[in-house]
Amino acid sequence: MKKILITGGAGFIGSHLCKRLLDEGNEIICLDNFFTGSKENILDLMDNPFFEVVRHDVEEPILLEVDEIYNLACPASPIHYQFDPVKTIRTSVMGAINMLDIAKRCKAKILQASTSEVYGDPEVHPQNEEYRGNVNPIGIRACYDEGKRCAETLFFDYHREYNVDIKVIRIFNTYGPNMAINDGRVVSNFIIQALQNQDITIYGDGSQTRSFQYVDDLIDGMTKMMASSETGPINLGNPDEFTILELAKKVIQLTNSKSKIVFKPLPQDDPKQRKPDITKAKKALNWKPTVKLEEGLVKTIEYFNQQLKDKQ
Ligand code: NAD
Ligand code: UDP
Repeated sequence: MKKILITGGAGFIGSHLCKRLLDEGNEIICLDNFFTGSKENILDLMDNPFFEVVRHDVEEPILLEVDEIYNLACPASPIHYQFDPVKTIRTSVMGAINMLDIAKRCKAKILQASTSEVYGDPEVHPQNEEYRGNVNPIGIRACYDEGKRCAETLFFDYHREYNVDIKVIRIFNTYGPNMAINDGRVVSNFIIQALQNQDITIYGDGSQTRSFQYVDDLIDGMTKMMASSETGPINLGNPDEFTILELAKKVIQLTNSKSKIVFKPLPQDDPKQRKPDITKAKKALNWKPTVKLEEGLVKTIEYFNQQLKDKQ
């Protein structure tokens, strides 16, 4: 039985990871400050004696003895990471240092949940791991993008300087059950709007693209990465690319919604296109996503439908 620390474990991705690793027979410490995560996401796990919740902020050091660390603590939705940008940078940078210090002391393996945002508004398409990105360092997304870039730097410096066993994954847009109703990212926004027959809010003209990965595929990739001898960085995402307008239409169709599409201003530095090159993950991890957008959307719609009913 491995003892595994998951920071951000009460969040969207973290809660799925807690469940998977607990089901596989590990002991889990779920560390979270509950900024965007919630107890509801991990309620089902609370009765398990091998699941422990620690309310803590990764900005502060903490003494724990573990075999593996998945470092996910960080708000991921633009509205939440821009709410207190300085706090977001501190979370990424101080959080990385504090978790790397645990890994160094315990000789634990440590995986960093990095992001496709390190590529910024990319001039290379699709994005492979060699591309160094096009991030505006003083824009409103920089607190997240540069925080994550600095965390990657720290991971590689701890690896070179202290021989820490690191794994860096770059996650592309991921969606699924356990996203918060107020998350603010595109998939959950569109589904919630459609289920309530409210206007679907497209930012810009909807021609920007994203490639959406269902959360189960990501969890497979993350655990494969942890078990591998790779340091990364490795992209984990679904290369099927859609415009935001196509996504809106698909959600309306799958929910049989009466919603109309409305167009709102495009936020500053919003990337125009995004699609992962997953050649490296396929080769090194023998991993590729298997869930098609429509299939994943149906499951996510089911989840939000239930959530909305429970809240009535
Ligand atoms: P989320 O907001 O649902 O989860 C983040 C979790 O971290 C929440 O439970 C939150 O309460 C916790 N947290 C935030 N700041 C903290 C702090 N200072 N100390 C302790 N806990 C803190 O987002 P998510 O989509 O589950 O993202 C998880 C990780 O994956 C993040 O690091 C994010 O950057 C990364 N990621 C996600 C995506 C995606 O599409 N979902 C894409 C790229 C990268
Ligand atoms: N977006 C949108 N309507 C929304 C939320 C987001 O049109 O209600 C757009 C957003 O401007 C971006 C894309 O959808 O172009 C993906 O946004 P999200 O916040 O999900 O992720 P990110 O921009 O970080 O990839």
